[in-house]
Amino acid sequence: MLVEEVARVCASSSLFVFITRLACAAILGHGSDELRYRVVPKAATGEWQGSYCLSEPHAGSDVASMSTRAVRDGDHYVLNGRKTWITNAGVSSFATVFAKTDAEAGSRGISAFLVERDSPGFSVGKLETKMGVRGSPTGELLFDDVAVPAAHLIGEEGAGFGYAMEALDGSRPIVGAQAVGIAQGALDAALQYTTERAQFGSKIAEFQGIQFMLADMATRLEAARLLVYRACAMAEVGAPGTAKASAMAKLFASDTAMQVTTDAVQLLGGAGYTRDFPLERMMRDAKVTQIYEGTSQIQRIVIARRLLQEMTSGS
Ligand SMILES: Cc1cc2nc3c(=O)[nH]c(=O)nc-3n(C[C@H](O)[C@H](O)[C@H](O)COP(=O)(O)OP(=O)(O)OC[C@H]3O[C@@H](n4cnc5c(N)ncnc54)[C@H](O)[C@@H]3O)c2cc1C
Repeated sequence: MLVEEVARVCASSSLFVFITRLACAAILGHGSDELRYRVVPKAATGEWQGSYCLSEPHAGSDVASMSTRAVRDGDHYVLNGRKTWITNAGVSSFATVFAKTDAEAGSRGISAFLVERDSPGFSVGKLETKMGVRGSPTGELLFDDVAVPAAHLIGEEGAGFGYAMEALDGSRPIVGAQAVGIAQGALDAALQYTTERAQFGSKIAEFQGIQFMLADMATRLEAARLLVYRACAMAEVGAPGTAKASAMAKLFASDTAMQVTTDAVQLLGGAGYTRDFPLERMMRDAKVTQIYEGTSQIQRIVIARRLLQEMTSGS
């Protein structure tokens, strides 16, 4: 609800809130007490922002094909590699980094590490110039012989892929909440404009063609909100079926945000296409909700896999 309300006005600001939560997820769920006490209080007060480092230039949707390596050397691991598309690059104080500790073991060879900002060899690379969420920095993080204390391994070696997916299952409904917030902000603006703007001697909201658009936008938005709230409630208690419910919520809410913001621009006519109104920004911001934390295609893969598993297991 916090993310939804902030995103109603500014999607970039809402991203600051949930990306640090995503960065903390594996530490909270599987980290030692030492790691939790080191990171979580500072993240909770806002003193530290975090980054979640999964994506790489050649490993986007197929994250298990990552090439960042972590090699054990005494009481340290040495990390080498490049992470791309990292939210909070350059502003985060800590990063949860996924790297291969066993190159031959596929997804079972991935481990998770806490890397702190001042670690020698850890640097920020290219920052992206993006279509939307331009208030939130996105860029590369580079690891060049970064020595990470073995105590900063999160949970068990080789279990990192599971932690990464678990974190995303818990976070995808929050991307859905961001999408719902963006769509609500667009609907608010469209309602205000259509009840003020007059053409052909009437407020444009009095035309049935406009009312039908508003009705469809509001109905779709409400359906998205309910899917998101349901998935959040399931994720909160770790209910069976959370992964499917989360993917459905993100898929539907992000498509809704795209549809509602596009329709809202239309309802403002030329004004919607200018920067005098926030609608064009909302439309650009909505687009990313169909891409990050797994694209809409990947959400469909998750949903279909779970459906088929349920069918074969008879549940
Ligand atoms: C603003 C922004 C912030 C981000 N923040 C982070 C972050 O903080 N941390 C992080 O780790 N990552 C982050 N990402 C990365 C994001 O998660 C990836 O962009 C996303 O997972 C897609 O990967 P990709 O861009 O490599 O696309 P690709 O995987 O190359 O996909 C390209 C296209 O192919 C489709 N596709 C791929 N595989 C299949 C398939 N099997 N079936 C059907 N279609 C398929 C995709 O859906 C997409 O349409 C961010 C991205 C953006 C844009």
